[in-house]
Amino acid sequence: MNKQLKPLKKVLLLVVHCTATKCNRPFSVENLIACGEAKYGQCSYHYYVRRDGEVIPLLPETVQGVHARHYNYCSLGIVYEGGLNEKGQAYDTRTEAQKHALYELLKELTGEYPQARIVGHCELPHVAKDCPCYRPSCEYANLQPKC
Ligand SMILES: [Zn+2]
Repeated sequence: MNKQLKPLKKVLLLVVHCTATKCNRPFSVENLIACGEAKYGQCSYHYYVRRDGEVIPLLPETVQGVHARHYNYCSLGIVYEGGLNEKGQAYDTRTEAQKHALYELLKELTGEYPQARIVGHCELPHVAKDCPCYRPSCEYANLQPKC
């Protein structure tokens, strides 16, 4: 474990992302990790959801990722493979397997962190991105904390 990783003390947000890669081009877990290391010196996310629905744990839930500016200290980052169509345009390219896997993963995480709210990266303030190309806050309304 890289000793520079900062501890994550609380989980108030579950932030969903896409890799912003074309849906017809596989983006390997090695590539995803290398991308984060090149940009930020560490892996960016906690979970990776592949096109076939495989969920790959990356960072432990006890350390901070680098995926949502200003919110890394209190969030987990979940990223699905895709988010761009064949033409390279932002698009919800999730497969049925990915939709199912994302739902199951978020259900498990909200069970673990009942106070945590599910949001898409683009739903955070001042984020001018399409990531993850759908609205997790609405799609997972039934998993959100009751207030
Ligand atoms: Zn993102």
